[in-house]
Amino acid sequence: MYINTTGLVLREAPYRESSKILTVLTATHGKITVSARGARRRGSRIAAAAQPLMYSEMTLYNQRDRYTLTEAQPVELFPGLTGDLVRFSLGAYFAELLEAVAYEDVPNPELLAFGLNALYLLGEGQRSVRLIKAVFELRLMLISGYAPNLSACVRCRQAAREPILLLEEGTLSCLRCKRAGEPYAPLCEGSLEAMGFVLSAPPRRAFSFRLEEPALSRFASACEAYALQQLGRRFRTLEYYKQVSQGEEKTSDGIDKNPTSDGLSNKKGNLDHDAL
Ligand SMILES: [Zn+2]
Repeated sequence: MYINTTGLVLREAPYRESSKILTVLTATHGKITVSARGARRRGSRIAAAAQPLMYSEMTLYNQRDRYTLTEAQPVELFPGLTGDLVRFSLGAYFAELLEAVAYEDVPNPELLAFGLNALYLLGEGQRSVRLIKAVFELRLMLISGYAPNLSACVRCRQAAREPILLLEEGTLSCLRCKRAGEPYAPLCEGSLEAMGFVLSAPPRRAFSFRLEEPALSRFASACEAYALQQLGRRFRTLEYYKQVSQGEEKTSDGIDKNPTSDGLSNKKGNLDHDAL
């Protein structure tokens, strides 16, 4: 039977002479594996849609739990991504993270909308790449059911002094309350406040704040370390992003080049766009 849906291509792999096997996050069927026959052939009608980070209206033929892409019309191109290696490589990391948490054949509209919004903001180029990356990692953990509990020190039950995030437990602790050998990420007032904001903001507002150094670096390190610890694996695309972004953070960071205030400032007037 034929299915009409929209889907974001998370991954492609060459298949036979002229085809591809795609991993697609769809609106209606969650994560699925799709055969894109002839997608590498010149003049193929599905070639444009069968690219990583393309979001398209798709017609799929489903037979015996196998999906074949028969028609596709790209609807959101994230144009700012294709010309910028740093942003594109970060988008590829987002795609690998989405693939890691998405379930096969289980629709998750929240996850798809979140991924599209993040890619839109990444391509738009108005926000710090490091901030988008960190918010994506932490918010993805929230959506996937791995939100850390940041309410108080898990050991002494007081407001955490010299706060740290315990990466395995996903809880807050004072530096002095930590047990020997526990993996942790150091925090501070600004980075802790930023994490709290990301975990509690409505979906379209999660990226709408600014954070200055050194809180931004602590926030970024903690979010990455936490996501990797919780997912329990490495990401090839993250390693590639780090290679290509070395020394480019200042030029691709845009908004953070001219800090105007210390710590967290929620920009209420700076609304996110909804990629849907
Ligand atoms: Zn404590």
